Amino acid sequence: MSPELERLIQLQDVETRAAESRKRIAETPIEIAALDAQLTASRDAVTQAKDEIAGNQGARRSLDKDISSAQQRLSKYKEQLMAVKTNAEYHAMQHQITAVEGEVAKVEEQILVSMVQADELAAKLKAAEVALKGEETRIARERAAIQADAADRQRIVDETTTARATLVAEMSRGTVDLFERVLKARQGIAVGEAAKGQCTICRVGLRPQVYNTILKNEQIVQCDHCQRILYFAGVHQRSEQGQAAFDAASTRQDHFERPSDAPDLGAPVKPAARAGRTASSKRSPS
Ligand SMILES: [Zn+2]
Repeated sequence: MSPELERLIQLQDVETRAAESRKRIAETPIEIAALDAQLTASRDAVTQAKDEIAGNQGARRSLDKDISSAQQRLSKYKEQLMAVKTNAEYHAMQHQITAVEGEVAKVEEQILVSMVQADELAAKLKAAEVALKGEETRIARERAAIQADAADRQRIVDETTTARATLVAEMSRGTVDLFERVLKARQGIAVGEAAKGQCTICRVGLRPQVYNTILKNEQIVQCDHCQRILYFAGVHQRSEQGQAAFDAASTRQDHFERPSDAPDLGAPVKPAARAGRTASSKRSPS
């Protein structure tokens, strides 16, 4: 492989890693804000439970006053009952006493309901406080992990900046300009693989002459369609027909295989390329 093409592949790898890391760093404040919102929701649940308890206690105080006032009236009416002179007055007073007794019974029932609610609200507050404690621990742990990841990503960005400067210094200005132009125009991917007669990024078929040139990895060749710089990383994938022709012609097309002393590409060999090579070597006549 030509050194310039090799550096282009490395430069693309550097750009890809830097872009991924920058994207993750940009997402950090959003993730932290989401955690903060979860913590706020848990705190709000505790505050709400406390407010409900305060409301219940206020209602209970009001009911206590109501019952005490009703009981005072009841005592007063009972005293007055002793002092009545006529049958009509007696019946009228009895009527009032019955009404107030009904009032007392009603308020007593409301107090019972309020006490049951108080128990439920106390349990709700306890559950909200336990949940908040759990959330505080979880969120602190996740926040620390996000911040550690962001710090790692920043280290990668710094490393790639240095790596990029080193690579660019070894490359011709024209190649770097071409790389940057395509990188900008093509969403951060300026260099890609060609395989099976296609550009693997835009999937458009390459002219046989162009593809054959790419297979040699000796020149900078761009995809006719997307303009990306293409290289060949794997074993030439043959059609069934092509494989038959290959078998017939024995090892005539050996130049499609990457020589064992080929320079390292600086990019990980794709699993597909490895699988292709294994399959091909199995098919190859010995
Ligand atoms: Zn393309």
